Amino acid sequence: MKVTVWNENYHEKIDPAVGNLYPGGLHEQISGFLRADDVIVRTATLDMPECGLTDEILSDTDVLLWWGHIKHGDVPDEIVDRVQRYVLAGMGLIVLHSGHHSKIFRRMLGTTCNLKWRDGARERIWTIKPNHPIAAGIPETFALDEEEMYGEPFDIAEPDEVIFMGWFNGGEVFRSGCTWVRGNGKIFYLQPGHETNRAYHNEYIQKILKNAVRWACPVKKNLPLICPNTEALEK
Ligand code: ZN
Repeated sequence: MKVTVWNENYHEKIDPAVGNLYPGGLHEQISGFLRADDVIVRTATLDMPECGLTDEILSDTDVLLWWGHIKHGDVPDEIVDRVQRYVLAGMGLIVLHSGHHSKIFRRMLGTTCNLKWRDGARERIWTIKPNHPIAAGIPETFALDEEEMYGEPFDIAEPDEVIFMGWFNGGEVFRSGCTWVRGNGKIFYLQPGHETNRAYHNEYIQKILKNAVRWACPVKKNLPLICPNTEALEK
């Protein structure tokens, strides 16, 4: 399996708190725990030519992970068009935390993806589909001592599955782990992952993402996106 972890890689450079928490960037932390004998992981960042998301890379990617926040607007529309085509053709897409407002997530869902937010909350995650492959090895509930609050209403297209629910100590709740299918591609969104908190150091968040790349991995990728007029097979 070939995985590409995309990160805007901006907070890490300007905020020492983020740089200390994630030396090398969020993409290096995430790719570090996703790597396995049968999982080849590459990284791509906003400052690379074509955002690191060339046809060569995307055609050779089974699952793309996306972390972005304040640089969503700097991703050119033609790159978003390209990523969308690869998802429709079978590539898995995993959107992380503030990627809820990325151009690609909004494109795939067709909604604003707006939500409520507040820094510095405590979160309790509930596994509400314990038999889902993305929930394998995840307890019924676990806590993140500090995470950004994301609250409902979350303006998303109706998910196919809500696997995790988040509860925050301000009283809010959130659909924290959801799936969709678009064309031939599987999509998963995971809410924890604020850049100044430790979510990607948490063993359960790591396990969820390891499970998610296997779930989102296509049986066939790069399927043709065509609409042919065809001859009848039988007379
Ligand atoms: Zn955040």
